[in-house]
Amino acid sequence: MSAAGLFTWHKFTAVAVAFPAVEQEGLVIESNRHRELGMDRPIARRDFLNGVALAITGAVLESGRHIAGAQAPANQDAAVYPPLREGLRGNYPAAVDIFDPIRRGQYSQFPVPDSQIREEYELVIVGAGMSGLSAAHFWRSGLGDEERILILDNHDDFGGHAKRNEFHHNGRTYVGVGGTLGIATPYPYSYGAKALIKELGVEVDRGREFTSHELDKFHLGTGTFFNKEMFREERLLVGNIREPEFLARMPISDEARRDLTRLLGQNPDYMAGMSEEEKKTRLAKLSYQDFLLNYAKVSREVLIFAGGGSRNSKKVDSTPALEQVERRAMGTNGLGLKFEGEKFTESSYALHFPDGNASIGRLLVSRLIPAVVGGKRLDMNTIVQAQFDYSKLDDPASKMRIRLGSPVVRVTNEGSPEHARSVKIAYMKDGELHAVRAKNCILACYNQLIPALMPEIPQKQKDALAYPAKVPLNYTNVLIRKWTAFQKLGVSRISFPGMWYTNASLDPGSTFGGYQGVTVPDEPVIVHMTCTPGKPGLPRKEQNRAGAAEMLAMNFRDFEFRVRDQLERALRPGGFDPSEDILAITVNRWPYGYAYTYDTLNDPDVPPEQRPHVIGRQRFGRVTIANSDAGAAAFTNEAFDQANRAVHELFVLNGLT
Ligand SMILES: Cc1cc2nc3c(=O)[nH]c(=O)nc-3n(C[C@H](O)[C@H](O)[C@H](O)COP(=O)(O)OP(=O)(O)OC[C@H]3O[C@@H](n4cnc5c(N)ncnc54)[C@H](O)[C@@H]3O)c2cc1C
Repeated sequence: MSAAGLFTWHKFTAVAVAFPAVEQEGLVIESNRHRELGMDRPIARRDFLNGVALAITGAVLESGRHIAGAQAPANQDAAVYPPLREGLRGNYPAAVDIFDPIRRGQYSQFPVPDSQIREEYELVIVGAGMSGLSAAHFWRSGLGDEERILILDNHDDFGGHAKRNEFHHNGRTYVGVGGTLGIATPYPYSYGAKALIKELGVEVDRGREFTSHELDKFHLGTGTFFNKEMFREERLLVGNIREPEFLARMPISDEARRDLTRLLGQNPDYMAGMSEEEKKTRLAKLSYQDFLLNYAKVSREVLIFAGGGSRNSKKVDSTPALEQVERRAMGTNGLGLKFEGEKFTESSYALHFPDGNASIGRLLVSRLIPAVVGGKRLDMNTIVQAQFDYSKLDDPASKMRIRLGSPVVRVTNEGSPEHARSVKIAYMKDGELHAVRAKNCILACYNQLIPALMPEIPQKQKDALAYPAKVPLNYTNVLIRKWTAFQKLGVSRISFPGMWYTNASLDPGSTFGGYQGVTVPDEPVIVHMTCTPGKPGLPRKEQNRAGAAEMLAMNFRDFEFRVRDQLERALRPGGFDPSEDILAITVNRWPYGYAYTYDTLNDPDVPPEQRPHVIGRQRFGRVTIANSDAGAAAFTNEAFDQANRAVHELFVLNGLT
């Protein structure tokens, strides 16, 4: 095949970001394709209205979609148990719609009169993610369980990114990962973070014992789906780009095939003549895309196969080439560069619950408010199957309370930051404004929102808090009736170059507490689909913002169409019929995803103490700042470490250390 007529890089970006909209001006455009995919299947939105969902918040009514076949047992339905809620989840609309008015300054005057503040706490924490939950834990570890603590969060479930998706079907429960996948980072857990994990009854070194091997016996491989918009033909190829037979069958131009073969083999030194130091300096300021195009001199067509593997969802044009060299990405093995020091490997401290780190969040909550789990002391063996009673989270009789569906709109020190004795926190609940008073406050939410929550913070600090651009991600869980199509086609995982969802994999879960997420191919399983939207060609932070905006503008049917369309096109030859085989879909959209991390290409090279996250996280009066943004690292251990620091700063302020 010649290069002529094949896609260009520009065409690629168009395909990747501009899939046809499914709804326009509120009218659903029905087409044969939509019917074929099952988009017209009865949606039990009507059933929701007549049944359980009457008790659910507007958020779920607006976005919820329960597809016939996935039935919750009567004793635990979505009305009282958020992990069962399907449709649009993650940062779902009703949880984050209020961010715009907050940013526009609608609540800049503290919106609740003092006379209406009736609740008082030692500590109020904004955000029930890993950082907020662990901050409560650290506080109580230092000062005891009698401290009155309130955690406020804008979502209807706790855990922040660490969310659990649950499906019930024919008497079985299927557990999926709605966000944070597991314990694993590119750098070691601190002593404090490890101690917390251990205290929660999690032995990380036993993690491998619980890996599911159910899929192993089917000897399934990895597939790549080549789509006709980009590759002129539709084809699912099983295998690996590093295998010559696979490369030979890829529907790409001969030029691209030659380039890929060259890149994947032993490379010449594409920077010959430069010293090791010169190479590293140049590569640090060069994107991987520029390295491939201008040094390795490959055709643009190759770029689509060169993007992945980068931390923090960076793309081929926003990843520093130096990072890719360290990672031994294709095209770089001839450079002869050495990197100092023993590298920590993530697999040396890794563990994956079937709901990811939602189990860590649930363990934390079970320790903070034991009544939620009937007073049981849970650990890694019992957490996955534990029943949670959400009605106990915000019990007036409890010293420790978690109030969900409560976005904080304004926080202010009472008095000057130097002399304040208390903090007022205003929040919205069920459409009404409320406020509480606290001696101390920890903001374990999103850095970029803090300047609007506390406009009196000094400008330099506000600028620093506003510096990052969180990384958007989408994790969609699809419960399918059977996975015979995957078996017939010999794949457990499919990548989709150039399509909206970039991956779809069978998720067998892990086997903690006897959980089993997959059995035989003609029984249900969760398919986990991922996407990291962004707009190639823009600077990295702009790419993140564009990806977030794109997801915020999409409704559930937009995601659903892509799910059905991609699965149908790739799996049709195996007999997959989305209108029959898809039982339920939960879309976890995270426009406010990973904390932003710095890199040599996109961020100024300043001394560590001058980094924006360090300037941004300074204590302001009786308010300290936790959350992973405050550590500029997108990991659970960072969320814990920042919580520890924020608590410690308040202990110091209160003369408690
Ligand atoms: C899809 C995905 C996968 C990930 N996978 C991993 C992984 O495998 N391993 C890993 O270590 N990390 C992973 N992460 C990173 C993850 O962000 C961290 O591990 C950690 O969970 C961050 O915790 P946090 O408390 O700092 O932030 P968050 O989890 O974001 O929690 C902050 C909370 O504050 C709330 N909030 C924000 N504004 C307000 C307001 N105004 N009022 C009230 N509440 C507010 C938010 O809604 C949220 O609940 C992943 C993240 C995503 C999005």
